[in-house]
Amino acid sequence: MLPRKLDVQGIGMTSQRTRNRLVARLRENGICNEAVLAVISKTPRHLLVDEALASRAYEDTALPIGHGQTISQPYIVARMTELLLAVENPPRKVLEVGTGSGYQAAVLASLVETVFTVERIEPLHRATREMLAALGYDNIRTYLSDGSWGVASEAPFDAIIATAAPETVPPALLEQLAIGAKLIIPVGKQGGSQRLQVITRTHQDTYATVEHEAVQFVPMIK
Ligand code: SAH
Repeated sequence: MLPRKLDVQGIGMTSQRTRNRLVARLRENGICNEAVLAVISKTPRHLLVDEALASRAYEDTALPIGHGQTISQPYIVARMTELLLAVENPPRKVLEVGTGSGYQAAVLASLVETVFTVERIEPLHRATREMLAALGYDNIRTYLSDGSWGVASEAPFDAIIATAAPETVPPALLEQLAIGAKLIIPVGKQGGSQRLQVITRTHQDTYATVEHEAVQFVPMIK
């Protein structure tokens, strides 16, 4: 593949004007964390989708990224990021399960100190790692592994976010939360009823779960 020209600013359908329209739409749909909205407006989503889909990158929709996977819809990325930041002490170390295109990781990287992100599909992991490095995201650490095991060597995390849905919450992710930290995770069968859950580790052995809206994610595969 020819190296892709990194037009971070974008023109036409990828310009700042188009991105501002996306932000206005997210605001209308209830996203109100200004820091999150500012990051969405500057993150070059058009460089994280297939070049042929770049002109649709600032629509509020999920898009295919190959290997049967999708880049998450901007609304859900903003929503999960907002939930992750809704804490007294802003998280420093965040783990993401499901790197995919790297969009969610890139958004997080502008808001927290270090992002650890795990992908199980090798070509996706490699392509995304290269693109994130080319874009200068030097606080994102990428791993090729089954993310349902978390990244034990880097635990505990101040927050964990899963962008693929397991049918039941993987125990390793609960174990790798710091006390007071949150796991933000879609749970349920694909095509069935998945719900966004926020699970807080309140003490060493106690967790509190809050269920949020219905969502649609690709399955978390072991
Ligand atoms: N955060 C991504 C969303 C990608 S879709 C983005 O912003 O684009 C979810 C991703 O999770 C897919 O790339 C899929 O391959 C990956 N995935 C599914 N099961 C996984 C597992 N057990 N471990 C790591 N990644 C997994």
